[in-house]
Amino acid sequence: MSGDLSELYQQVILDHNKRPRNRGRLPTANRVAHGENPTCGDQCSVYLRIEGDRVAEISFDGAGCAISQASASLMTTLVKGHTADEARSMYDEFKRIVTTGEAPEEISDLAAFAGVHAFPARIKCATLGWHAALNALKGEVAPASTEGAAG
Ligand code: ZN
Repeated sequence: MSGDLSELYQQVILDHNKRPRNRGRLPTANRVAHGENPTCGDQCSVYLRIEGDRVAEISFDGAGCAISQASASLMTTLVKGHTADEARSMYDEFKRIVTTGEAPEEISDLAAFAGVHAFPARIKCATLGWHAALNALKGEVAPASTEGAAG
């Protein structure tokens, strides 16, 4: 990755931290899931309004480290308008990027998190919001935890 590219990606994370997208409780939500990452102290709740088989509205709320909050913010912008299956494949791609550090050829905001792979403890921070969103899509109301999660 060139210096310019990693700076660009750094900007994506800083920007989502400074101006989180879709942050706050969603009053019209019909699905909610909460996730926590005890090793870092991150908390994240994801609110969805499902219409048909698509995510019509999405928001998140929580507190924690920069990686967890920026990742949750980016996740909401990507998942909105998509089906559960599409969200799942985006998560699979994201998970691959943060665990291997291999960014896709094309410029992708997801790739901003490729650097996380060098800090394995932070992978759970990066995937927290996604776990909560996928659980909300499955309709699970039990708290999601990244501790011991297989996927
Ligand atoms: Zn964290």
